[in-house]
Amino acid sequence: MSSADFTLSSPRVIELVNGGISYIEEEILQCNSCALHETVTNKVIGKGSESPKVVFIGEAPGKNEDETGIPFCGRAGKNLDEMIDYMGLSENDYAVINTIKCRPPNNRNPHVTEINACKTFLLAQISLLDPKVIILLGNTAEKAFCKNRKLDWGVAEKTDEGNVVLLKLFHPAALIYKRSRIDEQKSLIDENRPLWE
Ligand code: URA
Repeated sequence: MSSADFTLSSPRVIELVNGGISYIEEEILQCNSCALHETVTNKVIGKGSESPKVVFIGEAPGKNEDETGIPFCGRAGKNLDEMIDYMGLSENDYAVINTIKCRPPNNRNPHVTEINACKTFLLAQISLLDPKVIILLGNTAEKAFCKNRKLDWGVAEKTDEGNVVLLKLFHPAALIYKRSRIDEQKSLIDENRPLWE
């Protein structure tokens, strides 16, 4: 278990999972484990199916998400929607969550302390959603989720803990500024279709 990604046995994760989705939501709303709760407008918990085949893990809420409480509702979200369409997933097939639930000021990258403060929520959400495939959108999601390994873009790997597959794809925001990545992303999706089809 050198690269154990999940720490589902931690008492706090077990407590959250046993409490169910609404308990996790309440605990996220009340959380003050890091300074981001002082500047947040709306915490962004997640969206999508409660029993998805695929879970997408983004980075952190941006300005639009902070205003609405909905993940990926801005420009990056449009790219994510297009990606999901291209994958051929229907609404019941997927859910979207973030590594941290509060927007970092000025959209800076989340600090490690913030990722760690939010990690039990991430793990409890994944455990409850129980997907077949976890898509890590970019390096921050990889860093937050994978303890001791680095994944290659588009190369699926199993987690040690079960039959869940991890796949790292480009973050949808990265496709805004580098349009050439869109075709690259489509190729990575094509190579991995059997994972969710
Ligand atoms: N980028 C993310 O990583 N997550 C969001 O919810 C929005 C933009």
